[in-house]
Amino acid sequence: MKDQHVLYQHSTLATLVPGLLKGTLTMKELLQHGDTGIGTGEGLDGELIILDGQPYQVRSTGEVNLVAADFKLPFANAHFAHFEPLMTVKNLTGVQLEKRVFAATHYQNIFFALKVSGHFKQIKTRAVAKSEPPYPTLLATAQAQQVFNADGIAGTLISYYAPQLFNGVAVGGYHSHFLAANHDFGGHVLNYTVDSADVQIQAFTSLEQHFPVDDPDFMAHDFAADNIADDIEQSEK
Ligand SMILES: [Zn+2]
Repeated sequence: MKDQHVLYQHSTLATLVPGLLKGTLTMKELLQHGDTGIGTGEGLDGELIILDGQPYQVRSTGEVNLVAADFKLPFANAHFAHFEPLMTVKNLTGVQLEKRVFAATHYQNIFFALKVSGHFKQIKTRAVAKSEPPYPTLLATAQAQQVFNADGIAGTLISYYAPQLFNGVAVGGYHSHFLAANHDFGGHVLNYTVDSADVQIQAFTSLEQHFPVDDPDFMAHDFAADNIADDIEQSEK
């Protein structure tokens, strides 16, 4: 059943905070829950984006690869695309665009996805470098990242919005990944300015939260001492 009202999430960002970065789901398994998505690889191996059922990885070297079916992920979001047109925008920063979305909808308390396709004046992304076990914390790993800039680039941005109330289950606010139309640039989006783009939206009525129950490290970990909210804020924004 391809339920287009469900956002599927494997594990949580909170799980990554103490360094639980082992891959606990394969890409093949993830694709059973959606044809669109974002995530990261084992050891925070780059930034992933799934578009039209095709999974891509942006590595810290900047190179973009197709992802194999047995590639493992410690965290991901996916859903079956059924986007609806929301608006066409010109000359707008990402922050302005996000505000316009709330002016046009009343979705601030639910999970939803955005697809922004078109031409970007400027976009700044990052990609994290893969760590090996024993894994450092999310904050330490996220500091081993490369930042990339592009000017005047065509591409697609996929963004998942999580209500602030659910910060920890996801990043409260928008979490966006980007892929250039010619597949030679992408990553986790830090900021951008749209030149001209179509904005589409898909609201979710349900969140399916899947836990890495086969990972003994996760099952045994005591999260009480981890500084979850602050570390996510510093790592993901
Ligand atoms: Zn990301």
